[in-house]
Amino acid sequence: MQANATVKDYIRTIPDFPKPGIQFRDVTTLFGNPRGFRMAVDQLLHPYAGQRIDAVVGLEARGFILGGAIAHQLTVGFVPVRKKGKLPGKTLQQDYTLEYGAEVVEIHEDALQAGQKVLLVDDLLATGGTAEAGIKLIERLGAEVIGCAFIIDLLDLGGRARLEAMGMDVHALCA
Ligand code: IMP
Repeated sequence: MQANATVKDYIRTIPDFPKPGIQFRDVTTLFGNPRGFRMAVDQLLHPYAGQRIDAVVGLEARGFILGGAIAHQLTVGFVPVRKKGKLPGKTLQQDYTLEYGAEVVEIHEDALQAGQKVLLVDDLLATGGTAEAGIKLIERLGAEVIGCAFIIDLLDLGGRARLEAMGMDVHALCA
């Protein structure tokens, strides 16, 4: 990789995964590279410098890798939003719709306190359905989402517009 490589340069696209016609953006190559991973974490945090952030919420599963690193960098706690049935304690559940069918995500009901300021992170924003479900869970616990940060924003799929319509600040590193 060139010395002046950007975050996008470390991401590869795998055709026809998980099914024919899908161009899957694979961030494992970014996470696996020390310079790329550091650059992604630093750039994701850049707009929030000086802002109060009490916790980082990451969306399953790549949002955990990214969110853990970001929370560590900020010295704040990390909170997972997981697919249904994975969290051991009492949870709040949130439904959302996918192209084919419905999904449920959960958060531990004691994971955040009312009034806390939260940064939501995931690897990729597509339709915004997953992020919207995460935002609703955070808000149902009385916490406030101060920003939604993604490595990739697939602009054509409308996720940014959807989240901005909810009043969210959306930050992404590449399209
Ligand atoms: P959305 O709910 O339609 O915005 O889809 C975003 C979710 O799907 C995120 O949790 C992503 O991790 C995942 N996702 C969708 N497409 C891709 C991809 O091409 N690469 C990696 N993750 C993807």
